[in-house]
Amino acid sequence: SEPKTNPSDKTAERCDSQTRYAIIVHGGTAKAGRIPQERLDFLRTLLNQASADLREGGEALDAVEFLVKGMEDSGLFNAGRGAIANAGGFVETDASIMDGRTMNAGAVASMLHLKNPISAARLVMAQTRHVLMVGDRGEQAVTDLGAKTVSSDYFLNNKHDEPAEHGTVGAAVLDRCGNLAAGTSTGGYDAKMPGRVGDSPVIGASTYAKNGLVAASATGHGEYFIRFTATRSLAARMEFANMPIDEAAQASIDEMYAAGDGTSGRGGIIAVDADGNFAMPYSYDGMVRATVRDDQPVRVGVFEDMQE
Ligand code: ASP
Repeated sequence: SEPKTNPSDKTAERCDSQTRYAIIVHGGTAKAGRIPQERLDFLRTLLNQASADLREGGEALDAVEFLVKGMEDSGLFNAGRGAIANAGGFVETDASIMDGRTMNAGAVASMLHLKNPISAARLVMAQTRHVLMVGDRGEQAVTDLGAKTVSSDYFLNNKHDEPAEHGTVGAAVLDRCGNLAAGTSTGGYDAKMPGRVGDSPVIGASTYAKNGLVAASATGHGEYFIRFTATRSLAARMEFANMPIDEAAQASIDEMYAAGDGTSGRGGIIAVDADGNFAMPYSYDGMVRATVRDDQPVRVGVFEDMQE
């Protein structure tokens, strides 16, 4: 097929037709009683940078890649550099990205050497006619397309066999042209079996975006998010049942929690709608998250309250 636009080309027109823009990100679920201050400080800086670009007409898709890549590179989350090892003692990463303007999407799963899985996912979206590339052959294909690779000692938590700290990352963005985009990146769930793929690279499970409707990214017990098509269910509730974003997102979280045994089936979703309204429900103790909007400063939070 014809290669589509190179994602690094910033030739697209800058958006400035509407005032509203909005960003929401998550840095995974969190256990009670501990405030991961370093992560929150990092998110504050990152969102201020992304906000400045959107204010000047930057595009939602670029912002999603920038935000997720920043979190991957930070080593502070279970994604990219900080991705946790699987039960076999090595890192396998999953990521996806979706453009709500075109309904295009790209994803990678079970990647061993990618520096930035989110950028590889974008390459799949922009430069192939496929959505999801997996394993060694998929990694070779995205590497051929220009994805950066690293050796396994790049990953800080390689061979770490401690109980996993969650910390999957994701972003959902509305830009000033009204475009919605979302992305998610992870090293996967606690001590997963080698070869296991979670919800993070599955469109409609962890990542979903559709212009005029919603952009969303999830974290938590991925098997449930896949089976309940968590982010697409959220969107469907808005689309077909006219639910507001907060009720729709809460309903997705609640039905998975109800299906679980109180420990399984838990997680969180971050979402932004076409008017810039946020939703951030979770059924875990907490969820690391941050928001910013054209009319609001950066706010960060883990448990109930968000702080400026
Ligand atoms: N949802 C991710 C997975 O199941 C993990 C997480 O969000 O912590 O792979």
